[in-house]
Amino acid sequence: MAEILLPAERVNVAAEADICVIGGSCTGVFAAVRAARLGAKVILLERQNRFGGVATLGLVGMWHTLFDITEKKQIIAGLTFEMLERMEKMQAASPFRQAAPRGIRINTEILTLELDRLIQEHPNIRVFLNCAFSTAITKPDGSIEAIVAENKSARFAVRAKIFIDASGDGVLCKKAGVAMRRVKSPQPPSSCARFSGWNFPPGFDLRACMEKYRPELPDLPCGYYWGMNIPDSALHMLAGTRVFNCDCDDADQITAAELEARRQIYAVLMMLKKELPNLPIALETLPAAIGIREGLHMQALRQLKGAEMLSGKDFPDAIANGTYPSDVHSDQDDGISFKFMNGNQTLFKNGKSTPGERWLPEGQVLPYYQIHLRCHIPANVPNLLAAGRMLDADREAFGAVRVMVNLNQCGEAVGVAAFQALQQNAPVQNLDYAQIRKLLAKGGSIVLPAQKPCAP
Ligand SMILES: Cc1cc2nc3c(=O)[nH]c(=O)nc-3n(C[C@H](O)[C@H](O)[C@H](O)COP(=O)(O)OP(=O)(O)OC[C@H]3O[C@@H](n4cnc5c(N)ncnc54)[C@H](O)[C@@H]3O)c2cc1C
Repeated sequence: MAEILLPAERVNVAAEADICVIGGSCTGVFAAVRAARLGAKVILLERQNRFGGVATLGLVGMWHTLFDITEKKQIIAGLTFEMLERMEKMQAASPFRQAAPRGIRINTEILTLELDRLIQEHPNIRVFLNCAFSTAITKPDGSIEAIVAENKSARFAVRAKIFIDASGDGVLCKKAGVAMRRVKSPQPPSSCARFSGWNFPPGFDLRACMEKYRPELPDLPCGYYWGMNIPDSALHMLAGTRVFNCDCDDADQITAAELEARRQIYAVLMMLKKELPNLPIALETLPAAIGIREGLHMQALRQLKGAEMLSGKDFPDAIANGTYPSDVHSDQDDGISFKFMNGNQTLFKNGKSTPGERWLPEGQVLPYYQIHLRCHIPANVPNLLAAGRMLDADREAFGAVRVMVNLNQCGEAVGVAAFQALQQNAPVQNLDYAQIRKLLAKGGSIVLPAQKPCAP
């Protein structure tokens, strides 16, 4: 390939702070807010025009229950709970104060507005929207001196003492020299869409309809779909596309995937117009970006392993609790395999659910699992932490931790850990986990001991 040499460039240091966060999904926003509440001066950079990441840009409006598998004990609070309380006031969230085994539906437009408000309540957070991280400037000891970003006005540097990569893609980790791992069969990306008039006649079977029209409309999705009515809205969100064999770290493949996912949505719309010509169905919103389930994973101090997590291992650095099943989407067909915390396993494929062998002995459940902090600490950069889907987890663990109520807690923990690293003036590899857990609890997070599988 032809090359061109860029001239050396001098850029302004446009901002300096204690902590700089790259990426403004709830993961990044919650990291910034927790650090700011402890007194740190924070800079938050987001490539798009709003906060919320896959939730708001990708239209994914489902959070999962805040309760353990017995439905008796609340295990998640912190900023997830605060945000739900805010949205409840706007009728923008389905009930969450008791166990919500079918999930908590949220209106992601209201989430966008509430994230704006939350950020603006913290004057020690400086925000750069429509601003993309570009590269990292590192020192000989491997630490990051500054990052370079670009917005409408300029290309500029931001200097900070601690950096947090909350970009999902691990853009800062990569540039800072953290080893990144590509998985064999990554979970496929999907584009969601919102429709009005999504009121089908009784007995209408969307999946069967897709099979009927497949010869005529070959772009129809593979058959996997789920959807939800959006709180305080007349719209329905459909998560019904899947793009196979996509390396989400490759710009050309993501470009092709965006186009393919929209072709799939177009085909669904055409199909519905043909099959139900009198139904006033309309496409109302397309996502600002395709939803990426899995890209690269970084190499951290310790990988989160499904076998450990699901055995209720006691981690000294446990910073989050979850019950969402290990949920792995096939990158070849419409299959999804679930490993539930009630001990059951199921494969959903071709519109059928096939139960597998129980993974826990009969009569036992795992009330909740825990996520450790070390899977967010890159092994080789003294002032970098990372939260989000690039965390270091094996396939089974990643299937469970990748959902938002889990990553929200990880973001909060990383914000607190960054603050502690600042205070200690120590590399992030030497953090005091007990102290971080204390600070998390003090700031509103639920911090629990490990829990082994047991009778419910
Ligand atoms: C279709 C789909 C359905 C899903 N369904 C659910 C569900 O029902 N419930 C659930 O909880 N989870 C669901 N998930 C999973 C969950 O949404 C994601 O795993 C999670 O949101 C990832 O969060 P994140 O913070 O790692 O990344 P993201 O949400 O991707 O956020 C990363 C942020 O970083 C920004 N960024 C990236 N690069 C740069 C850069 N260079 N400079 C500045 N900013 C940058 C991005 O713009 C973005 O705002 C779903 C995922 C998909 C794709």
